[in-house]
Amino acid sequence: MKNQCPICNSENTKIRDREIGVYECLKCTHVFTVITGNPLTPYTEEYYNNKHKNWFEHPDVRLFRKIVKQLDLENNQGKSLIDVGCGKGDFLKYVKNTGLKIQLYGIDPTKNVYDGIYFIQGDFMNIDFPDRKDFVVSTMVVEHVTEPNLFMRKIVDILKPNGVLVLNTINSGALIHYLARFLKIFGVRVVFDRLYDHHHLQHYTKKSLSQLVIQNGFEITSHTIHNFPLKAVDLPENRAIIRQIYLAGVAIIFAFSNVFGGGLSQTIVCRKHT
Ligand SMILES: [Zn+2]
Repeated sequence: MKNQCPICNSENTKIRDREIGVYECLKCTHVFTVITGNPLTPYTEEYYNNKHKNWFEHPDVRLFRKIVKQLDLENNQGKSLIDVGCGKGDFLKYVKNTGLKIQLYGIDPTKNVYDGIYFIQGDFMNIDFPDRKDFVVSTMVVEHVTEPNLFMRKIVDILKPNGVLVLNTINSGALIHYLARFLKIFGVRVVFDRLYDHHHLQHYTKKSLSQLVIQNGFEITSHTIHNFPLKAVDLPENRAIIRQIYLAGVAIIFAFSNVFGGGLSQTIVCRKHT
């Protein structure tokens, strides 16, 4: 079934946008994109160096610092950590440069080389890992996968019993998503089209992300909604004036949601059952 929810498998789903192929699950509130005809996003050098240049040039150091604290890496030295879909390896490099003695691994379709970090180039779903890790971190990856439950099963496989997972993704219950839907009613699609660009297939609400980890055998220890650095926002327009207006709009929304909630990013920390 094409419009079956990829999180809870319910067929009780509703189309939200025909142009992009966006559906919403009425059972677990998950929003997902069904792509027909168009090929999936290729993760080429173009993707990292051009289309998402801002994102990769401005790593979310505040989030990195928070993850190091949440995993209490200072008191877990000697243990192993893998970053699944590590991109250019910014989180791993950050940990390495703190001087903490953690065995660091990263896997991504793109090639990385860095002293003291073991990088694997390839597709996470198709690689066998010889030993299990104490920690798995995955930031802004789970929204790209076609089958989130298979992705989670693979994570379960590579984690030791009682291992901890940090999963970070977009919050599709964010204020900006409500604004995008509101603007679309009046025919203004620019924000909606950007948020639901085809490189993102899964749009998690707080509820659907919790459900995904719980049904795959995890116990949640924390779940926070926040924003990422404004500098990291990839802008949809090349004309300078439009970019400035767009950026100002995003700045206002971020400032508002920092105070009242409804941030664009969410991070869940959870422990695997033995
Ligand atoms: Zn569902």
